[in-house]
Amino acid sequence: MKYALPILSFLALAACQTATMTAPEPASAAQPPAAVSASEARPLSADQWLFGSAEAQIMMEQSWKRIAAFVETGAASRPEYSVILAPGATAEAPDFLACGEKPLAAVFDVDETLIWNLGSAGAFRRMGIGFDPAIWSEWERTGAGKAVPIPGALEGLERIRKAGVEVILNTNREAANLAGNIDTIREAGFGDYVHGETLFLKGDTPGGSAKDGRRYAISENYCVIALVGDQLGDIADIFNDKSLSPAARRNLAAAPAFDGLWDKGWFLLPNPTYGPFENSSIEDIFPPETYWAPAEEK
Ligand SMILES: [Mg+2]
Repeated sequence: MKYALPILSFLALAACQTATMTAPEPASAAQPPAAVSASEARPLSADQWLFGSAEAQIMMEQSWKRIAAFVETGAASRPEYSVILAPGATAEAPDFLACGEKPLAAVFDVDETLIWNLGSAGAFRRMGIGFDPAIWSEWERTGAGKAVPIPGALEGLERIRKAGVEVILNTNREAANLAGNIDTIREAGFGDYVHGETLFLKGDTPGGSAKDGRRYAISENYCVIALVGDQLGDIADIFNDKSLSPAARRNLAAAPAFDGLWDKGWFLLPNPTYGPFENSSIEDIFPPETYWAPAEEK
């Protein structure tokens, strides 16, 4: 229903405008068809915030301006180290890949970083189901034109390119769906990318959805001065250790070795619609020391 409502509003408005310009019509002429309004599908609260709110739009544009400004400043200097954690690095023993004389690059995730997947998310909501891998794979192959650029992203990448920094995409979309994925990125306005050079997908290196292998492959040719995504796995695989509780994961992200990188090479965009956070328990989110209840529970 999320997408039907604005359309219906538009149709009603268009009908009213037509009516004032030509012969008056009875009010019922502007009523939406019953078949469309019968849908009970609803966008999630998180959908309404991310895809529909002015607040999210502003946050995204702010973030992209900060990312572009950081990269522009970084491009004017020759950093000794990239922002990619070296193999085996930990919070206690941090280590970053050396840059040498390699050209500069910024590496971006795609889904919910450059584009919002409105087509697939809308389909899942209308079907009343959660994430379905087979449907998602079909979306990768056929969804071109139904994903939209995130506010600020197109302008941000334009500034980054103008600064002489290569734009490289590292996505967990499947290499097996290469043609559809390239079409989707292009149709959203981001231009064309070359597989293995400026576009890296799941399946390009061992490790499945873990992205470190692809980050190392990119680093063979580039000094990466910015990593941008909507999940910590877009920054470093160390954050995706399945044994980490939500609190331990937060602590790791804020460890002294990493804390200074946020907004200064490591950038995250908000995505409340899906992610590793979804497996939290009631105690994870509302810890016992905060327990409270009204005198009379309803
Ligand atoms: Mg993503």
